[in-house]
Amino acid sequence: MAKVVNIHSGEEVVVEKVPMMECTICESLFDLEGEGGTTGFFGMLMVAFCPFCLSSVLDMANQMLEIEDEE
Ligand SMILES: [Zn+2]
Repeated sequence: MAKVVNIHSGEEVVVEKVPMMECTICESLFDLEGEGGTTGFFGMLMVAFCPFCLSSVLDMANQMLEIEDEE
């Protein structure tokens, strides 16, 4: 069960299951609650990343910031 907010009215709607999300990068459909991934905003653009693209984006950011894996 999840809360969904209507962005036009601000009303909260409780839904039993979050609908499948479309990944902003690869356009595949994914289950946010079951598979993971994330949603959020880049400035005013809503984005959704599937688990594979989220992992890849984080890995790329770590490489750009030169953060080493601590394993
Ligand atoms: Zn993706």
